[in-house]
Amino acid sequence: MKISKIMVIGAGQMGSGIAQVCAQAGYQVLLNDLKPEFVERGLIGINKILTRNVDKGRISQQQKQVVLSSITPSTDLNDASDVDLVIEAAVENMEIKTKIFAQLDEIAPAHAILASNTSSLPITEIAAATKRPEKVIGMHFMNPVPVMKLVEIIRGLATADEVYQDIEDMTKTLSKVPVEVNDFPGFVANRVLMPMINEAIYTLYEGVATKEAIDEVMKLGMNHPMGPLTLADFIGLDTCLYIMETLHEGFGDDKYRPCPLLRKYVKAGWLGKKTGRGFYTYE
Ligand code: NAD
Repeated sequence: MKISKIMVIGAGQMGSGIAQVCAQAGYQVLLNDLKPEFVERGLIGINKILTRNVDKGRISQQQKQVVLSSITPSTDLNDASDVDLVIEAAVENMEIKTKIFAQLDEIAPAHAILASNTSSLPITEIAAATKRPEKVIGMHFMNPVPVMKLVEIIRGLATADEVYQDIEDMTKTLSKVPVEVNDFPGFVANRVLMPMINEAIYTLYEGVATKEAIDEVMKLGMNHPMGPLTLADFIGLDTCLYIMETLHEGFGDDKYRPCPLLRKYVKAGWLGKKTGRGFYTYE
């Protein structure tokens, strides 16, 4: 299937990155969020990254303008009436996602593929909210989207082979590397990563070491580019908590129980870099 027009839902850190890479690859993009100011915030972020790329000589001013002009703001899901693909990157919450997918199923053309950038929620369950489960698939981009090469492509129970193939091909057009994964809680990336982050939070909670020391051990000792607490701040602590809850509930195994300190920070609204405060503070 030829994909030309894409709607990205959620103009947060992931959605804006996804919109940017899709526009850079020549797709027409609608960037949708609940309010115009949320879309605007996403567009400002994209503009900032593109301006940096122009300054560093990676792209020309003209290329920047072409990318920006390929992204149309949207606050109405009805704008999905003529798209070929939707990539949903709203918050990590099953109720919100199933509501969006049920609405999209009514609005988007019959041929359109509905993808979710969920970090951990079952694609099969999201697909069940629609009458086209064979056209629902997971496209799990990594953060920051413009930089990270991997996209985990998750097959739901009903995902059709042609749909998988279309999405694998489309992912390659974004200069990303697709990796096929089946639908189990946390898929591969977060099943392995998130328990490590959660354990780092327990290590802090139990006073084993300071946050700086924990990050330093993992950076210098394991050659990780950033420590797990810094990484958690970058991912968003609310997203980390949702993922741990999904693993905990999905496997019914207490080894995945979220650290109480993570819950406390989320309740305080300390969600990491995006709110200016998480384990660290940000300007
Ligand atoms: P974010 O909080 O930065 O952005 C979420 C955006 O979705 C917000 O702008 C919010 O206003 C919008 N939104 C909420 N409900 C909506 C609705 N009904 N319709 C339209 N927009 C709506 O979150 P994020 O970090 O960009 O994460 C988005 C998704 O991507 C989540 O499912 C998350 O699990 C997944 N993800 C996140 C990361 C990461 O590192 N942060 C990595 C991979 C995948």
